[in-house]
Amino acid sequence: MDTRRIEELRALMCPLEAPAALRREWLQQVAEHGEVFLERLPGRKVYEPPLEDPRGILQSPFGEEGVPLEELLALVGRYVEDAGINLGSAGHLGFIPPSSLYPAALGDYLATVINRYVGVYFTAPGAVQMENMVLRWMADFVGVPAAASGDLTSGGSLANLIGVVTAREAAGLRARDYERAVVYLTEQTHHSVAKALRIAGMKECVQRQIPLDAGFHMQAAALTAAIAEDRRGGRIPWLVVGSAGTTDTGAVDPLEELGEIALRERLWLHVDGAYGAMFALCEPGRKALRGMERADSLVLDPHKGLFMPCGSGAVLVRDGGALLRAYAYDAHYLQDEGTLAKDEISPSAHSPELTRPLRGLRIWLALKLLGVQPFRAALEEKMLLARYFHARIQEVPGFEVGPRPDLSIVTFRYRPQRGDADEFNRRLTAAVQHDGRVFLSSTVIGGAHTLRVAVLSATTHKERIDVALEVLQEKARAIEEGE
Ligand SMILES: *Cc1c(COP(=O)(O)O)cnc(C)c1O
Repeated sequence: MDTRRIEELRALMCPLEAPAALRREWLQQVAEHGEVFLERLPGRKVYEPPLEDPRGILQSPFGEEGVPLEELLALVGRYVEDAGINLGSAGHLGFIPPSSLYPAALGDYLATVINRYVGVYFTAPGAVQMENMVLRWMADFVGVPAAASGDLTSGGSLANLIGVVTAREAAGLRARDYERAVVYLTEQTHHSVAKALRIAGMKECVQRQIPLDAGFHMQAAALTAAIAEDRRGGRIPWLVVGSAGTTDTGAVDPLEELGEIALRERLWLHVDGAYGAMFALCEPGRKALRGMERADSLVLDPHKGLFMPCGSGAVLVRDGGALLRAYAYDAHYLQDEGTLAKDEISPSAHSPELTRPLRGLRIWLALKLLGVQPFRAALEEKMLLARYFHARIQEVPGFEVGPRPDLSIVTFRYRPQRGDADEFNRRLTAAVQHDGRVFLSSTVIGGAHTLRVAVLSATTHKERIDVALEVLQEKARAIEEGE
């Protein structure tokens, strides 16, 4: 065989294997670009509408030849950095704000350079132990027993899906049962739970919304009554979904009671703590989340309450065996696994994923490098800032507030002297967002347009809450005065 073509191809593909000197040069350029971004961040608006048409990036198509890195960094700057919400901002008080903890970026860089195959234990034993250590650390501060196991996911939605499927398998439900299977939740349950049910093939199951109390918590007595009613009706009570902090109002369902009911009725208790579970790291949070340890499955989002950048969720399952039964698999081409790592479980046996990034390193690095204490302090600080905002905004004439925050979200609205209140609050939301010193998002509660402040960005401190109070007062007055 003539091997000239092979040699030719080798010469053509050589840019894929960068030499050391070039790697160093690239890294320096990227690090410098990142640094400039971070240094500019505090001076920027939280939300920046695109200055350039975002489709402009399409004007620079992929070519057969490479382009110098500097030019590409300029494109990233122009089209990616300069538009949208700046997640690391101190003034980001909208939705549930993720942070941009820098050591996590370094962890991701290292994890990708080292590039271990974490789907299968024997190919990455230390990396899997590192992820297990992160999961165990969470299980310990939450209070989940040693028999639990879990998985580091890309986020809370995937973690909710894993919880729902594990619950479905543990209950031994089959397709013919789905229309009679009942899930108990509330109108405040995150939509990713309904989405998970649909992806799990269970769209037809009964989704029973349990009434809320005045603080937006599930009413435990109504849950008990609903279960009894469903049993009388020949349906199959199956799953209780409690929220450890809802996205709209931050309300923590009565988890202690839900745990007791689930145990007594032999139902699976899934707790969605994507927003709130991490608050168990600090004392007031631990009190607010009492009973969370009773969950059969629990979702946490390190990219919310552990200040990680996007891409970090987690699920813990009390009975590790149940998680394994839902996700373990077998394949001929993976037969070496059994001989090379007999007693260890591979992450892919706990998740729908096989090949996936090493997600634990960013968390491990940040926790080890900085210590746990700053995280505890930050979470308690965010809770107190929300209480501070709640106390102060109701002193401003015209503003009325929702319940005292369980965690770090406050709902409120302005009651105008005349005109349509919803229209006023819509304009107020837009005016604050446009101003840019802080970013708030709104929701609908009891049919009314409601503003919310969600304090969870690592960089949000008291002075920024004071700015939020000032901006709200200023904008409300301007709208009142009809300009
Ligand atoms: C954010 C959130 C989710 C979804 O998590 P993602 O990480 O965005 O996928 C689920 N439940 C609650 C309560 C949340 O706040």
